[in-house]
Amino acid sequence: MIFYSTNKKSTPASLKKATLEGLANDGGLYVPSVIPRFSEEEIELLRDAPFNDIAFAVAKKFNDGEIPDDRLGEIIESCFTFKTPLVALEADTYVEELFNGPTLAFKDYGARFLAHLTGYFAEEDRTFITILVATSGDTGSAVADGFKGVPNTRVVLLYPSGKVSRLQEQQLTTVGGNVTALEIDGDFDDCQRLVKQAFMDAELKQCLVLTSANSINISRLIPQTFYYAWGSLQLAARHPGKKAFFAVPSGNYGNLTGGVLAKMMGFPIEHFIAGSNANDSVTRYLEEGRYEPHPTVETLSSAMDVGNPSNFARLRHFYLDDHHAMAADISGHSVSDSETLDTIRAVYDRFGYIMDPHTAVGFRALEKFKEANSTVDSPAAIMSTAHPAKFIEAIKEALDMDITIPDRLQEVLDKQKISIPMSADYRDLSSFLSKL
Ligand SMILES: *Cc1c(COP(=O)(O)O)cnc(C)c1O
Repeated sequence: MIFYSTNKKSTPASLKKATLEGLANDGGLYVPSVIPRFSEEEIELLRDAPFNDIAFAVAKKFNDGEIPDDRLGEIIESCFTFKTPLVALEADTYVEELFNGPTLAFKDYGARFLAHLTGYFAEEDRTFITILVATSGDTGSAVADGFKGVPNTRVVLLYPSGKVSRLQEQQLTTVGGNVTALEIDGDFDDCQRLVKQAFMDAELKQCLVLTSANSINISRLIPQTFYYAWGSLQLAARHPGKKAFFAVPSGNYGNLTGGVLAKMMGFPIEHFIAGSNANDSVTRYLEEGRYEPHPTVETLSSAMDVGNPSNFARLRHFYLDDHHAMAADISGHSVSDSETLDTIRAVYDRFGYIMDPHTAVGFRALEKFKEANSTVDSPAAIMSTAHPAKFIEAIKEALDMDITIPDRLQEVLDKQKISIPMSADYRDLSSFLSKL
């Protein structure tokens, strides 16, 4: 498969080039040159298939022979060792739980696939790749865990000292092995600036192969189609003749973009409901057809605090910049913090199910959609993006109760933190990296 940049100025790239570059050199995001299609017969064959078989069938179309089939199959088996349960809340409403990976958030799907592909390409090129990431929390932990133990790769994480939660810091600083955490005396913007400076440092690049693993990487997007493909087939089996609605809590809109790709590939999906918090640039675009990003505001669903979502460029590309076409497939609803807390409460009271604040935004957005469209008679699934135990404070505020922390999380909390303190002066980072 050939990948183009959404800015159309850089040269087309193979899957390897697009994966190792991350962002195209014209500043655009890589998109597949054509969206691969599944025929009805192909879909029929996958109907009862296990998750990993569906993931393989989808990945194969994007890979197009660059990675041999047997290796691609092995990569998928080692990435998706956890389950993606579809939990019924009521007859036609489900939660698709995407939080059963090692860091308890859906970013594990993207980060693990990217890590294994990067490792494969590094081995093929007989190089050693250093992944440099600035993180304010969730992305960093998924990347650190995804690359843990992947041969031919090493991760260097930069995080702002004292500005991430204790749980996040533990997740970043206890991986060990090929993952090093640098605790920067500065804020998240300093971390991002340092990483950018390293990428522009020609001298450094002579001794290190650097890559970024950031959230816009095409190899993080591809695996985010797998669980829509699988979920839509599961729902079609339980509700014959119906196509699924998916409600997606959205920040950078990468998760939603994965869903849109799955629909365009031919999986049985009717419509998407994108839930945003107060950061509603895309929600307003879907309603009004004008894109006017606002500065980011802080909310309870912090992983969705994005004022100017980067994957919007991809969505625009896939809908040929046609607002009506996009709005026909995607409805947007914005959800306030107080509605989020009310929703966590209401869902617990009605179903005995505990939702994290991000998932609650998706649930409430679906309710708003149903209030506006009373004729919906298809099954709907809310994509659950994080385990509630990752957001203990919000749960405590909403439900006034403590929840049990899963063993995986407790183990991380009990481990010894190992980080290297560093100033926000680039000279310190460059001297550290050049000695690696
Ligand atoms: C990253 C994240 C989101 C937002 O996903 P996007 O792909 O950026 O829209 C939602 N919920 C959680 C818990 C996340 O970590």
